[in-house]
Amino acid sequence: MAICLKISEVTAFRSELEGLLESVQEDTREAQLEAAKTGKVIDFSAERKVIEQCEAALARIDSGSYGICENCGEDIELSHLKADPLARFCISCKGLAEP
Ligand SMILES: [Zn+2]
Repeated sequence: MAICLKISEVTAFRSELEGLLESVQEDTREAQLEAAKTGKVIDFSAERKVIEQCEAALARIDSGSYGICENCGEDIELSHLKADPLARFCISCKGLAEP
């Protein structure tokens, strides 16, 4: 089943994802500088995960599969996408995939 996101909606999601990606990358860079200065060991796995998810979502926009549940192939509810642009699952599959 094909998603019926409007072009304007896709554009809005793309810029939101690009903005999120940029800010996480910026935060990570700053934290890395801080870590290098202070010798602190910082765990960047959460940031890396967000960066990966942003890049994956942008790739899905490019390939036209953005907004489609990776589990059941149904459209992800628009309200859910707006709340979480990184969403990969529809609401009913999200409960199953992320306990
Ligand atoms: Zn689903």
